[in-house]
Amino acid sequence: MPLVSMRQLLDEAAKGGYGVGAFNVNNMEQIQAIMEAATETQSPVIVQASRGARSYSQDRFLYHLMIAATEIYPELPIVLHQDHGNSVATCKSAIDMGFTSVMMDGSLMEDGKTPSSFEYNVKVTREVVELAHAKGVTVEGEIGCLGGIEDGHGAGGDGLEHLTDPDQAVEFVKQTGVDALAIAIGTSHGAYKFSSKPTGETLKMETLIQIHNRLPGTHLVMHGSSSVPKDLQDIINQYGGKLKPTWGVPVEEIQLGIKNGVRKINVDTDNRMAITGAIRKVFAEAPEKFDPRDYLKPARDAMRAVCKARMVAFGQAGQAGKIKPVSCREYARAYQS
Ligand SMILES: [Zn+2]
Repeated sequence: MPLVSMRQLLDEAAKGGYGVGAFNVNNMEQIQAIMEAATETQSPVIVQASRGARSYSQDRFLYHLMIAATEIYPELPIVLHQDHGNSVATCKSAIDMGFTSVMMDGSLMEDGKTPSSFEYNVKVTREVVELAHAKGVTVEGEIGCLGGIEDGHGAGGDGLEHLTDPDQAVEFVKQTGVDALAIAIGTSHGAYKFSSKPTGETLKMETLIQIHNRLPGTHLVMHGSSSVPKDLQDIINQYGGKLKPTWGVPVEEIQLGIKNGVRKINVDTDNRMAITGAIRKVFAEAPEKFDPRDYLKPARDAMRAVCKARMVAFGQAGQAGKIKPVSCREYARAYQS
């Protein structure tokens, strides 16, 4: 089946009461890892690419690898999503290339660092909604700013500096018409999210629940939601890595989010860590090896295991067969009316 709109997968997830992991990719092995996990668990798939990933893969390599995924796994519904678009132009170039979903992150200015005004955010997001919906492409917006920096994008800080205000979230959705909304509840991008296991003081699940109660029809998105498990940290450090102790978002908090309107969960760091640990292990245990497949295959297997575990935990496992693909063109008609 061709790439499908994210709106369709999130609507299905809302109906079924589950969440869908959105995994970041830069190369073939990461796409293969996600697709192998998805076929083993029969999961719908969201693959996302940051601006950095698009430039790393020169856009066309990424796009054609995704087309290969649809050819090899025709029974699985797959979304290709632009993560953290910094401008209308970035989102437009993604839509022109064939992405079926885009994030316009107008919570930051075009530099991807400076927090913007509410008015600016509404203006650029509204513009993207108009051009995306005309083609049946889904739009995710962001209100409030996440902490940390990833791929050069982010406000920095600890995630508590620019939390989402529920009143603003309601107004933002009303004025922009976004399909999905990323909210800031204390999470950060990157490996160093929390300096101890998060509590209600540092991870504001109460705010998430308030926003869901006020916006029951809007799909909520949790960014910076890697769990940063200790065993993955340990493998990296055991084989010569130097990660400082860190805590991510516990899977049970994400599951609480899913009970309260979270339909998309962004995971990148956990997969990066799984890959790095597997490669370090080969280099340490078999330093005579020099065929890239000798370490890229274990790396791919390690990422597949993480993706599989998340797909099961988020509830998307077993759902792929229930989804009958609707084309973006049909979505475009539905948005019009
Ligand atoms: Zn993010």
